[in-house]
Formats: sequence, C-alpha cells, structure tokens
Amino acid sequence: MIVVMKSGASAEEIAQVIRRVEEMGYQAHVSRGEERTIIGIIGDERPLNRDALERMDGVEKTMPVLRPFKLASRDFHPEDSVFPINGVRIGGRQVIIMAGPCSVESRSQILETAWAVKEAGATVLRGGAFKPRTSPYSFQGLGEEGLRYLAEAREETGLPVVTEVMAPEQIPLVAQYADILQIGARNMQNFALLRAVGKSGHPALLKRGLMATMEELLMAAEYILAQGNPRVMLCERGIRTFETYTRNTFDINAIPLLKQLTHLPVIADPSHGTGRWELVSAVARAAVAAGADGLLVEVHPRPEEALSDGVQSLKPARFAALVRGVRRVAEAIGREV
Ligand code: PEP
Ligand code: MN
Repeated sequence: MIVVMKSGASAEEIAQVIRRVEEMGYQAHVSRGEERTIIGIIGDERPLNRDALERMDGVEKTMPVLRPFKLASRDFHPEDSVFPINGVRIGGRQVIIMAGPCSVESRSQILETAWAVKEAGATVLRGGAFKPRTSPYSFQGLGEEGLRYLAEAREETGLPVVTEVMAPEQIPLVAQYADILQIGARNMQNFALLRAVGKSGHPALLKRGLMATMEELLMAAEYILAQGNPRVMLCERGIRTFETYTRNTFDINAIPLLKQLTHLPVIADPSHGTGRWELVSAVARAAVAAGADGLLVEVHPRPEEALSDGVQSLKPARFAALVRGVRRVAEAIGREV
C-alpha cells in the first residue's frame, strides 16, 4: 500500500506517519518527490487499518499497490531513480554507454578496447571474466586474472567497470574489482544470487531472461531491492522467438513499458538483442528513441579473433559511429550522450 502525503505536508507530519506504520509492524519506504512525499508500506496488507492512516494530519489518501512488485513499482517511487556510480550518473538526462568486449581475453585486449571505447564516448567499461557459456568446452573466461585486467583498465582510463557474477560465492571476489555486478540473462531467476547481490549493496545490472516476461524481470529486481539495495538497472537484451535470422528478438516494447511500470533505469543491449554487428547501431538508436537510459554494446578491436560473441561485436571505429548516431537521437528527444 502507499500513503500519499498532501503537497504541503510538514516533516513532522511525515515522520508521524512513518512512526505509525512502523508501530503497526511494517517497513516504511519513503520517496520524497518534488511535489509530494509518498510512503510505501511493505508487508501483509490485510490487517492494515487504512482509515486510521487516512485520518492523520498531512495525509491525502492511501492506495493499494495491486501489482506484485512493490519497491520496483513507479507507484511506490513516482520519480525516476537516479544514482551515481563512481562519478557516473545513472538514470538522469544523460544516456550512458557501457561498452567493451564480451570477454576479457588478455591484458592488452582489454586495455586497448578500454581506451578505444573511452575515446569514442563510452562512460562505463564492460567485459566478462566469468562467462556463462552454452558449451562447457567453450572459453569460460579468465576468472580473477580477467578481473585484475579490468581493474587495471579502470585505473588507467577512469571508466567504472561492469562485469558478470554467476554465483553467490563469487560476489566477494567480483565486488572487489567491479563497480557494477552484472546478473546475466541465464541467471535472472537465480534467486539465491539475486538475494546475495541485494545483500552486497553493490550496484546491479539485471539482464532480462531469455524467455522472461516483464513481470518476472521486475519480480527479480524486487528480490535485490528487498534486501535494501536500491541501485538496480534493468537490461533488455532480447528474447527468444521463432526467428532465426537474428540471435534474439530485441523487444523494443520493453523499454517504454518498463519506463511506465518502474522508476529503475532501463538499459538496452542491442548486441545480444540482435546477435549481428550490422544491426547493432540501428537498434541502439531505436532503443534511445524509445527512452532507454543507457546502452550496453560489445566492442572488440578484432572481432574475427574474439573468443566469444565476435559476430555481434563492433570494431572501435564502428562503435564511434554508433555513438555519433545515438547522440543525435538523444539530442532530438531532449537528452544527451
Ligand atoms: C554478456 O553480456 O556477454 C552476456 C552473456 O549477456 P546475456 O546474459 O544477456 O546473454
Ligand atoms: Mn556477450
């Protein structure tokens, strides 16, 4: 349920409502907007005495939140979530660009790519050190060695780093090196991992599962948020359909729909969303036009030599062209890159 405070409600009136909510045995989540404050109440709502709350000073009304996701819901938090991660503001007017190789393959490969994507306008460096591969015989990532190279690339370029964590027990290690923990599509409903990332308090990039609905994605985010970790980004990365010309079908609907349903920043991944480098720039522009707060793009200095996802990786010059195109779209809708 949410308690909507009157627009002129005083700090004392707000504090009294929070106190009352807590006395009733619930947690109060306060969202202070420019116009008014909203207090979200989480827990079993059946015994909740709405009348008593509505009679309190400063309260305009109470409303049930009918959707199963609460903390992720825009009803709970009407304004967009905006949070800084190592100097990069996520979720504001600026569209952020996360770029880098699918996998960290060597020290020189990640350093070369990091400088190239930075020069082209990327704000976050990506690169997998623990890779979820369909085949156990495929390259599985460099593990901690890869994390060290990523950290070195951050030292040199100043770009914060996003990298995947595949299991709860990897979190302490990955969090030592990474600024953002990526939860991959295959792990979107690994509830133990979601809870553990929530507990870690580390910013998270949660990718949509291969066949996950919007509600399942939002419920997965709810697991992280419910542990008291508010810095969650959602990522549309395409879903599996009957189409075989592309690796996945990028669901453009997901972007405006998520922006409507949730306050969390929405990131688009046109690389996995298409699986073909020739399509990546066009889909990146479409995603920004649709309201994405950021992009995740795979870039490799020599895609033909890549140990994973070479066919969908852009060469640095093509990535630079992507950034220029995306910047023009962003400016057309009042945002910036
Ligand atoms: C990746 O980002 O390289 C990756 C494995 O993505 P996904 O989990 O979306 O397949
Ligand atoms: Mn990849």
